[in-house]
Amino acid sequence: MRLEEFVKNLPRTKPLYWEDSYKRVLEAKILKIEPDEKSAAYFVLDETIFHPKMGGQPDDRGTIERAGFRLEVKKVMLVNHVVIHWGKVLEGIPSLGNVRASIDWNFRYLVMRRHTAGHLLDHCISLETKAPAETLGSWLGDPCYVEYRGTVLPEGSVDGVEATMNELIRKGRPVFIEYVKREDLLKKAIRAPNILRLPILDTYRVVTIENCEPIPCSGTHVKDIKEIGGFHIKSLSATDRGFRVYYDVV
Ligand SMILES: [Zn+2]
Repeated sequence: MRLEEFVKNLPRTKPLYWEDSYKRVLEAKILKIEPDEKSAAYFVLDETIFHPKMGGQPDDRGTIERAGFRLEVKKVMLVNHVVIHWGKVLEGIPSLGNVRASIDWNFRYLVMRRHTAGHLLDHCISLETKAPAETLGSWLGDPCYVEYRGTVLPEGSVDGVEATMNELIRKGRPVFIEYVKREDLLKKAIRAPNILRLPILDTYRVVTIENCEPIPCSGTHVKDIKEIGGFHIKSLSATDRGFRVYYDVV
């Protein structure tokens, strides 16, 4: 299936996961649906709470249903500003109309905690190395990591970073979201760890943990770093361009 063709002439999907990352259930309307192989279908909703796979964040899973129809959402993609969902039909026949959409909240909340921990990790590595952290990539599925430019943190620094992370998490700090025009981005986030690898957009969504560097980011985060719970570095490994910190929230 050519996904660009599939979304042609469809309106941009309203990304409700940006407005309220805690929203778990939504009454929505199927704008387009097309059976794929046996017992599977691609579909587009007028608005969605399903976060697509992007920016190191795995796609949400969940279900959409109405009387006599139920589909398990397995993949979510963003194509030309339209969110495409793909899933297995468990009951009934795919058709247009209203549905109730629910995300797998346990998985989403784990990703929100991991994601916010990743931003806090940028801050704590910068404190430890006394230099700005530059991220090269991340993955918030399994195994969860952030990759940084530079030489691998010395073994002795790992305990320090972990202790600072857990101390900050225990005390708590609010996490703010704001929208910034392209011309104002450098004023706001010149020291953001991901500033060199951002796409060109008209408006950027900027996420700030209080007293940390603002970071342009399209993912879902918790409202206060307290919700991360706890943080553990599992391992470090050198890569071609830098090093990865494998971690998890606990
Ligand atoms: Zn983020």
